[in-house]
Amino acid sequence: MKTFNRLAVYCGSATPADPIFVETARAVGVALAERGIGVVYGGGKAGLMGILADAAMGAGGEVIGVIPEALVNTEVAHRGLTELHVVPDMHARKALFTTLSDGFVTLPGGVGTMDELWEAISWAQLGYHDKPVGLLNVGGFYDQLIAFNDHMINTGFIRPAHAGILIARESLSELIDAMAGYQPHEPIFAMSLDRL
Ligand code: AMP
Repeated sequence: MKTFNRLAVYCGSATPADPIFVETARAVGVALAERGIGVVYGGGKAGLMGILADAAMGAGGEVIGVIPEALVNTEVAHRGLTELHVVPDMHARKALFTTLSDGFVTLPGGVGTMDELWEAISWAQLGYHDKPVGLLNVGGFYDQLIAFNDHMINTGFIRPAHAGILIARESLSELIDAMAGYQPHEPIFAMSLDRL
């Protein structure tokens, strides 16, 4: 079983009205801090991202932000973190998320969160990393995404060998346990992060 020093956490920069989303971001921040797992995230104060970071910091956890220069002001960079890395662009941001973390956890979010999730899955397929990719499906938020992932598997767009890359669970403790037991899949190519 793997142990995690740090996990990259992807989530929305919005704060939707349904309290389940704020509660989830806060609970995940606290739970990771209590487990001694550092959080690597997008480095902003906005929305669920800021709630997650504040909750983890408040519970005594390590929080590392990674933000592109162009978003430092628009996303209001969080200056109260353990570390804040300002990087040149989005690509460098996602590469550093991958280098700094031992796995990925996606909470509810929007387009940017989806970009980060699918890139983590795609990079696992290609062999750029062999870290577990987790999806926290709170309140059924990701039911349709999981169904569509299954549809891609069933139609043959996702290889059978890669069907287990996306790990979806409804609670954080189940998700972390499943991620800890992840056996890396045979990649399409054996790429490495320095070839990105
Ligand atoms: P969202 O889920 O759209 O609220 O975005 C959450 C995070 O993804 C934020 O840190 C954004 O900076 C980032 N993000 C937003 N749009 C994109 C994009 N097109 N590509 C990559 N990341 C993005």
